[in-house]
Amino acid sequence: MNTFQDLGLNEDLLKAIADLGFETPSEVQDKAIPILLEEDTDLVALAQTGTGKTAAFGFPMLQKIDVDSRTTQGLILSPTRELCLQIANEMKQYGKYCQGLNVVAIYGGSSITDQAREVKRGAQIIVATPGRMKDMISRRLVDISKIQFSVLDEADEMLNMGFKEDITDILSHTPDEKNTWLFSATMPREVASIAKKFMREPQEITVGHKNQSTNNVSHEYYLVNARDRYQALKRLADANPDIFSVIFCRTKRDTQKVAEQLIEDGYSAGALHGDLSQNQRDIVMKQFRTKQIQMLVATDVAARGIDVDNITHVINYQLSDEVETYTHRSGRTGRAGKTGVSMVIVSKSEVRRLKSIERIINQKFELKDIPNGMEICEVQLMSLANKIHNTEINHEIDKYLEDINAMFEDTSKDELIKKFFSVEFTRFFNYYQKAKDLNVKVGDRDSGREHKAGGNAARFFINVGEKDGFDWMKLKDFLKEQLDLGRDDVFKVESKDTFSFFNTEKEHQEKVLAHFTDFKHNGRFVNVEITEDKPNRGGRGRGKRREDRKGGDRGRNDRNYGGPKSGRRRSDSSESRSRRSDSGSGSSRPRRSRR
Ligand code: AMP
Repeated sequence: MNTFQDLGLNEDLLKAIADLGFETPSEVQDKAIPILLEEDTDLVALAQTGTGKTAAFGFPMLQKIDVDSRTTQGLILSPTRELCLQIANEMKQYGKYCQGLNVVAIYGGSSITDQAREVKRGAQIIVATPGRMKDMISRRLVDISKIQFSVLDEADEMLNMGFKEDITDILSHTPDEKNTWLFSATMPREVASIAKKFMREPQEITVGHKNQSTNNVSHEYYLVNARDRYQALKRLADANPDIFSVIFCRTKRDTQKVAEQLIEDGYSAGALHGDLSQNQRDIVMKQFRTKQIQMLVATDVAARGIDVDNITHVINYQLSDEVETYTHRSGRTGRAGKTGVSMVIVSKSEVRRLKSIERIINQKFELKDIPNGMEICEVQLMSLANKIHNTEINHEIDKYLEDINAMFEDTSKDELIKKFFSVEFTRFFNYYQKAKDLNVKVGDRDSGREHKAGGNAARFFINVGEKDGFDWMKLKDFLKEQLDLGRDDVFKVESKDTFSFFNTEKEHQEKVLAHFTDFKHNGRFVNVEITEDKPNRGGRGRGKRREDRKGGDRGRNDRNYGGPKSGRRRSDSSESRSRRSDSGSGSSRPRRSRR
């Protein structure tokens, strides 16, 4: 295996590398650095975040630029402000012994004048987000006409975010003879076309397989009924007491809802999505980085550029519509040589989507069981025992010892331990002792409500279809919004040409029918009726008339989002706030008791 010396890096960089404690080059560094140092070439590198790619392009750039000149020679474009700042910081650390080096970060949401002033002082390297860069160019606040190296970092993300035009525009202000180094986790068509358009005979390196997520990440899935999704999430969190995770939802609304629910249930969680102000997002990210938040619930867009090491778990609370998104999600864990777990909570109807993901990541998902109540109690008990074992004694207690000892004079050590642990354990035990099995067994055709109307599901006919612009996803979103239901509450949506079918739980049946009574959409009456037959061969005539409808399971509500209900939880949270300081975990803030 090569050392950093073998790669041909100069003394200034080697000194910085030693300070950073990097021992050996990562795979992408091993492959990219010699090429970029020795050749004037364009490069396409397929590598995830967390593989050390910043240094893979950063070291060669730092070695090749002239620090005695004030001209801007290197331009690094990255998709988000977070990432931009992160890269600029890394570059400054890598180049800390390069006398005269000035790296400037340019990104939106911060004073453009201050950034322009910094550039004017002579920035050899600019790290920028495309939007702000374009702005600066059009106001003539930067001059990139003499750059020798341009890096397109996370190119797939930049294109996903709609920066194609900005990138094209920016690159048109750079000299043709520069070298372009493109880094991307995946290689969709758009990235390949950018490479073709802007690069000359690029060399290509791949870390692992194309489109593969890092090997440090294991991929698991949990099969549950859609309505048990939230309960399943809580169990996964409870079964991993030291979890430090990002939880992905599909929409801003679900993200907010899940985060709020977790907070209410006593978890240290926070939401990150586009409806929050930049300031709110900064606060959440700061709390996450400092581990005051253990579970960050995020949308894909908002989570772009989250570059936090040591994330133990990525939880796909809902899969994204884009198969490739999974790679980005799971790449948030297993960084910098650490291992991580990417979990997917799926209902039966979604299982087949895992197959497409497996093809992309070139790895298999392992089906795991949601832990049962007693397993969780055991994990929690042992975790508590461990924390107590590792807790440093606070000698402030000494002065009370005599009184406490007197109180326990007749209590044996065994009994004392049992009492002590019961304080925490009983809460978990009471909550979980009657907890049901959430796992849907493979081959258990009737256990999910996804299969057909029946059991607790009501199936509806609706007289709009693809001709009205409703594919199944649009219809599902439309229904969800109209009925103010959650994503999982409308399911088995099948869109035909002029009509469609969908399911809800029977408890929503009345609400659905009432909502669509005399309902007009785009000036047209939308009619919804109950149907009991499988829709595939039938057609409109088979719907059961609305007059036939029965009340169903009205009033039933087995969502049980909050666990044991509030009175108990509320009264016990302040008590546990003071009693549970989490000193073992290094968290600076007393954490609320869970559930
Ligand atoms: P990146 O993929 O550039 O975002 O890097 C992910 C993390 O790995 C960063 O925190 C780097 O500081 C760290 N890192 C980069 N190269 C190495 C290396 N050769 N050995 C150990 N850590 C590294």
